[in-house]
Amino acid sequence: MRRFLIAGNWKMNAGPSEARHLINSLKLELSNHKPKVEVLVCPPIISLVAVKEELDQFIGIELGSQNVHYENNGAYTGEVSTEMLKDTGCRYSIVGHSERRSYFSETDEIVNKKALKCLNDGLKPIICVGETLEQRKADQHKDVVRNQVTKALAGIDKDIAQKVVIAYEPIWAIGTGETATPQQAQEMHQFIRSVVSDVFDEGIANGLQILYGGSMKPHNAEELLQQNDVDGGLIGGASLKAKSFASIIETAESL
Ligand code: PEP
Repeated sequence: MRRFLIAGNWKMNAGPSEARHLINSLKLELSNHKPKVEVLVCPPIISLVAVKEELDQFIGIELGSQNVHYENNGAYTGEVSTEMLKDTGCRYSIVGHSERRSYFSETDEIVNKKALKCLNDGLKPIICVGETLEQRKADQHKDVVRNQVTKALAGIDKDIAQKVVIAYEPIWAIGTGETATPQQAQEMHQFIRSVVSDVFDEGIANGLQILYGGSMKPHNAEELLQQNDVDGGLIGGASLKAKSFASIIETAESL
């Protein structure tokens, strides 16, 4: 049976008060939610505790962060550690989102260190990869993504590799309203699975969740999630509206 993960990346939106409101709206929308689909929200760090408090005993929505540091603690102004995130109830952290790669100079090496740190400390990393429009036009998208995936997975022990989640997010589709076609998404997800198979083995590759991200919305979620190698979505804009996010979750539940 397929295991879908539908993850919301709230980015730099929703401080604690707004986050409480958003999560409560989502709880109402999901009151009949079936545990067949795992639901995750990734609020800004400042809002994690508020969201955790509002979730209280609510079952079926997991908490994750949008970023994490690879050191335990110390003089890293503005950063947050895996232990701090776990203390607020996080089970996941997004790692290497394209916005972090481009605006905050995160390299493949940094992404790898963060992924390793998450895994060693019991957080599941959602490793983001994806090509720019120029790279796709130049037919370099597979080389770029192979390189990103291989470097991100370097040094990860086979025993814990199943805890990795990969998000394929073509940069040209993020926040642009432009979406990869279902065929483009399937082609890249299948390709990523083959790269993971080369790094580890086929069993691990088949069990690994690969999410699609890039303007996934209620109107296009079904055709994307129907693809064999699409195991869920990493959703930005549409996760900021409880109804849209819930609609995508319901679509996943219906498949
Ligand atoms: C994202 O930020 O990961 C994302 C996919 O955003 P959007 O859904 O808004 O394109």
